[in-house]
Amino acid sequence: MFYHRKETIVPVDVKKPDARFGAFLLEQFGGATGELTAALQYWVQSFHITDASIRDMLQDIAIEEFSHLEVVGKLIEQHTSKLDQTEVYASPLFRVRGVGPHFVDSQGSAWTAAYINEGGNVVRDLRADIAAEAGARQTYEALIHASTDEGTSKVLTHLLTREITHAQMFMAALERMGKLDDPFFGTIKPDETVDLVFNLSKGEDFRGPWNQEPLFRYENDPKPNGGIPRAPVNPDDEKTPLATK
Ligand code: MN
Ligand code: MN
Repeated sequence: MFYHRKETIVPVDVKKPDARFGAFLLEQFGGATGELTAALQYWVQSFHITDASIRDMLQDIAIEEFSHLEVVGKLIEQHTSKLDQTEVYASPLFRVRGVGPHFVDSQGSAWTAAYINEGGNVVRDLRADIAAEAGARQTYEALIHASTDEGTSKVLTHLLTREITHAQMFMAALERMGKLDDPFFGTIKPDETVDLVFNLSKGEDFRGPWNQEPLFRYENDPKPNGGIPRAPVNPDDEKTPLATK
């Protein structure tokens, strides 16, 4: 069951409406790193996660993301409707689609479910969620740099802050499972190459803990192990004379 409260999670009060900035904000409404993506991703994950406490966390965060979606939508509405309409109509997107938010990103590309990263395993999901929060945080940072309205910047700083909180919550959940710094999960054992690192970009090479002892064996000059695969069999292909050497 859902309730909606008409009060927003934080105050939304745009003093200097700017239709161009409204278009920037669409990135967090109908964009890949946006609030619709986050809300739906965590929500749908909660349906297949067996651990009741992690399911509950995802539901709490999903609903907070819906509150964020509402706040971003209200920001866009105020940036595109409170001002002299000439400015709004200078923005092709709002001129054609009307004022207020739409489920497109800042470039006008339609939102797609392909942005959502979920499925199959709680560790996989929580790692995708940390990546989602990093993307959202980064977009908010870009928006804050571009914002000239104090009220807008304040709201965006709150939204950026919450994405950091969510990332921390997902990390704490992985930590409790012992999976924050353990790449292994699931039921299938990896093969013997699991600690092998290949130097496949030759030139000035740099080393780090990701290709050194004690975690990794470094193959400076990797050789192919597969041999030449058998030739393709295609009865419909053109019968051209064999090339001779
Ligand atoms: Mn959010
Ligand atoms: Mn978040």
